[in-house]
Amino acid sequence: MSEQEVQTAVDAVANGRARVRVDGGRTGIVLDATGLPADERDGLEQAVRRAAAAAGAADIRVAVTAERVRRRLIAVASGKGGVGKSTLAANLAVALARAGGRVGLVDADIYGPSQPRLMAAEGVRPEARDKQLLPVPTPFGLPMLSIGQLVEPGRALAWRGPMAAGALGQLVEADWGATETLVLDLPPGTGDVQLTMVQKYKPAGAVIVSTPQDLALIDARRAIDLFATAGVPIVGVVENMAGYACPHCGEVSDPFGHGGAEAEATRLGVPFLGRVPLDIAIRTASDAGKPPAALDDDRVFAPIAAQVADWLATR
Ligand code: ADP
Repeated sequence: MSEQEVQTAVDAVANGRARVRVDGGRTGIVLDATGLPADERDGLEQAVRRAAAAAGAADIRVAVTAERVRRRLIAVASGKGGVGKSTLAANLAVALARAGGRVGLVDADIYGPSQPRLMAAEGVRPEARDKQLLPVPTPFGLPMLSIGQLVEPGRALAWRGPMAAGALGQLVEADWGATETLVLDLPPGTGDVQLTMVQKYKPAGAVIVSTPQDLALIDARRAIDLFATAGVPIVGVVENMAGYACPHCGEVSDPFGHGGAEAEATRLGVPFLGRVPLDIAIRTASDAGKPPAALDDDRVFAPIAAQVADWLATR
């Protein structure tokens, strides 16, 4: 068997990723696994070995190389809890993935990790390989990891400080394979945990979620300041729970005011990305692990995601 014969056999399974060199009785194969998740990488290595052996190669050694994928984080943050930050993060990730992005979701909300429920991955424990966590798949075409998958519910809170920082680091530095955009659901608030994470992982940009009322907007301003301090640009502000459509009479009211976040964004000179209405269907779908952004008739989250994707494309 010649080097060319082995190369041809290997090409049939490796899609141009393998270079063969036969030297005496030895066959060396350099396999470029850039962008492949761990399981595909292993599968490809096995396929290449089999193909080379079938072509008559002996003493086969495979060296797997991979260039780093250019991966960027988009932090989703809010100045306080309960404004819909996790809901927005989940649906933003799903909408970005539906638009063709290679997206992953990291739930770093140590105060109330809700992404496993929102993404229908509750009770799934991530495995680790070579001391790196393997993100878990979701039914929505994107992998995820949550602090809630590493600790018992309610325990993460007791972890603030270095332990939390270590665990959160494992989530961000997991084996994200080909993922290019990681949506990071940050803990609510503007304390040390948030600042440490933002400084350490330097998100490419931040999306700020606020409800329209004044008090929430003061907190949103604090969140914007936190990112400014860390030198992280603001992608924009999303107003959540804007306008309530009564499921009985259909009348639209504004329990939290209207347009406050947009006015505030304009005042602060940051983009306004859109409004998400206060809609019981959003809550019930979220609780059932069915993010509304996964539905074909989603008109709310897709336009917000499109703006985030455009923003990333210009960076
Ligand atoms: P946060 O992450 O800011 O604490 P969540 O995303 O967990 O907030 O949302 C808090 C609660 O409000 C959840 O029960 C969620 O389903 C609900 N919720 C969020 N946004 C909306 C909305 N636009 N309409 C109806 N319910 C919403």
